[in-house]
Amino acid sequence: MARNTRKIITRSKVRFAPAEAVEDYVAEVSGQVLACRDQKHKWKLYDIEGDRDTGFVRIFRCACKAMLRQTLDPQGYVVHRQTKYPQGYQMPAGTGRLSREGNAIIRLASAEADMRVIAMRKASRKAS
Ligand SMILES: [Zn+2]
Repeated sequence: MARNTRKIITRSKVRFAPAEAVEDYVAEVSGQVLACRDQKHKWKLYDIEGDRDTGFVRIFRCACKAMLRQTLDPQGYVVHRQTKYPQGYQMPAGTGRLSREGNAIIRLASAEADMRVIAMRKASRKAS
């Protein structure tokens, strides 16, 4: 292979959120946001328009207040998809992407929130 045709492989520099920033984030957000970050959104149909000739635009909402707008072409293929998150859902701009460690921090916070929910449920069952 000629020298000048060799590909120079450059790794894109992905900036990950530092663990401290993720810890600060999980301390701020609701249990619902933690659940969605941990287990993905549970989309429920909110609105729809269109028909087989034009395709459809479907709008879904999640309990965390995120909105998903999905456009289907007349053949049923998804041609556009846009998610809007409620204020505070996303980490501050420039914090960086979530690493495996960042996701683990979120998962632990979500599990702790789940523990509190179940403990309250058990306590109210005993009380009644
Ligand atoms: Zn959600």
